[in-house]
Amino acid sequence: MTAMEHPENSAEYKGLTVNSGVAQPSIVNPYLKRGRYRHRQMSAGDYVEGILKGDVTILGRAVTLVESTNPAHQAVAQEVIEKCLPHAGRSIRVGISGVPGAGKSTSIDVFGIHVLQEYGGKLAVLAIDPSSERSKGSILGDKTRMEKLAVHPDSFIRPSPSAGSLGGVARKTRETIILCEAAGFDKIFVETVGVGQSETACHSMVDFFLLIQLAGTGDELQGIKRGIMEMADGIVINKCDGNNVDKCQLAATQFRNALHLFPAPESGWTPQVLTYSGFYNLGVKEIWDMVYRYMDFVKGNGYFEHRRNEQSKYWMYETINEQLRNSFFQNEQIVSRLAEAEAMVLSGRQTSFVAAKQLLDEYFASLR
Ligand code: GDP
Repeated sequence: MTAMEHPENSAEYKGLTVNSGVAQPSIVNPYLKRGRYRHRQMSAGDYVEGILKGDVTILGRAVTLVESTNPAHQAVAQEVIEKCLPHAGRSIRVGISGVPGAGKSTSIDVFGIHVLQEYGGKLAVLAIDPSSERSKGSILGDKTRMEKLAVHPDSFIRPSPSAGSLGGVARKTRETIILCEAAGFDKIFVETVGVGQSETACHSMVDFFLLIQLAGTGDELQGIKRGIMEMADGIVINKCDGNNVDKCQLAATQFRNALHLFPAPESGWTPQVLTYSGFYNLGVKEIWDMVYRYMDFVKGNGYFEHRRNEQSKYWMYETINEQLRNSFFQNEQIVSRLAEAEAMVLSGRQTSFVAAKQLLDEYFASLR
């Protein structure tokens, strides 16, 4: 080989020759077990069967269906809900609210483990967070925030559905409660962020509304203003640990005094104020003793049933309202007219009432 000759030009060079190959394995792992339902559209009956057996994978898929805006999914979802309804209702439903940072996720983790240990059964943690669509990510229900519960075999954690309106989000959470109960979950926590209207929605689907507060943040007054304290069946002051204990006890006294300003609740139950530390697991037992005492109390005086019936009625009207609204705003004729009507109102050429009436008349005429 001379200095100029490149080794690749040699007849003996094998670097660029193509050897006859060996059969390549399939890119699909042949050992992978195909999911039983993977390639088959599940019927409403399949969902119901899976749910009633307590299969959480199928429960999760059914919840996804409930949350879907696709009309075909909705049709199946509604059928599943209807078939699950006779198996639902045997649970205690507890709403847990508090401003961001109050310690909801820390507390729910500890509360959840406590009730599962003390009372057995199965726990589902759901959430109502209408901001989740805007913020592209739910504040609530993020599994990693509840580390112990997330890996507990008897728990099911589901983030907030993200559907535009609060009413829509809340209705889906309520429907999910039904599916969870049919799947044997006998304890339901509904977490909601303590800002805005979500508490009212949460209150309308739970048996006990627990409000988590912090000492000395001025939230006491906000709670009163927004009418949230009035909804609470129990107020618990978190982070009663370290050098915060005195402040928490003082806050508890203030809350107790403030509660006297409200009319007696319809349930006949006197809302209680307790202090605790979710982080250090102090006072947690007392909180759940209180919740269970409440359940006994309202089951005894008939209020438990009454409240659930009232809630069913409320959701019937809410669903009607929502469907009517959707039907109106999705009506093609209305969609094409809205901008014009809005401009007329803004420029003062038409009053809001006249514009609204015209649109409604057109809407009703289009239905004929
Ligand atoms: P969320 O936004 O209401 O869900 O609140 P988090 O559970 O995320 O808690 C907010 C912060 O408060 C975190 O840094 C927690 O570690 C802290 N925290 C929660 N519970 C307690 C408690 O009982 N004591 C103390 N000192 N800090 C707590």
